[in-house]
Parts: sequence; C-alpha cells; structure tokens
Amino acid sequence: MKFLYKFACFDCRVAFKRHATQELNTGSTWQADSEVVHNCPNCGRRMAFLGRNFRAPKQSDKNRWQSAMLLWEAGFRYCGSGYHDDPVLPESKAETIEFIKNNLSHSQRIASCIYWEGYS
Ligand SMILES: [Zn+2]
Repeated sequence: MKFLYKFACFDCRVAFKRHATQELNTGSTWQADSEVVHNCPNCGRRMAFLGRNFRAPKQSDKNRWQSAMLLWEAGFRYCGSGYHDDPVLPESKAETIEFIKNNLSHSQRIASCIYWEGYS
C-alpha cells in the first residue's frame, strides 16, 4: 500500500497527494512533517505538509486557504484516525484565530510552530 499525504502551496492555493517518506509503503497517520521535499509545480516553492486528511478548498476560497495556512503554521496537521474527542479543525479565518488560542493542546497539534523563513 502506498502512503500518500497532502501537500499544499498556500500561494497558489493548490494541493497534491505525494509520498512523505523515502520508503513508499511506510508512514503514519500521525506524521508531523515530510521527509521528502516537494515543490509546487506552479511556483516552485516548497509545499507545506498537511497530513493525510486535508481536503483542499476551492482555489477561489481564500478564506478557507488562509485558515489552513494559519493552522499549519501553528503546528496543526490533518492527521490521525479522526477518532478523538477534540473539536474539528475550523475552516474560516476568523474561527481559526480563536481556535488556535483555545486549543493549544489539541491532539492534532503535532508539529512545532513553523515559520516560512525556515521551511525550504
Ligand atoms: Zn505555488
């Protein structure tokens, strides 16, 4: 079985399924970042690793894309089995700002905060 994850470019607002480990058939639903760098086919920038369960918003839906980027920067991933008692990740920017403040120990917050300067 191939383990594929969602990677996104927040500038172009596109997402792709890619492998995140050197071994194609290994991986975990709780993986926090990719071992493999994938660049955006459109702009060439490194794409963000979002986890297995990310569902890409429409490209025109800037609000939802910004929400996903804020969550990603705060260390949230679309990961896990879906069976936990924590609230689902929000999909609007306004909700997301509150959500991050109120859910710092959320079970899907598995990565450390990421700032773009160090992500290349
Ligand atoms: Zn791009």
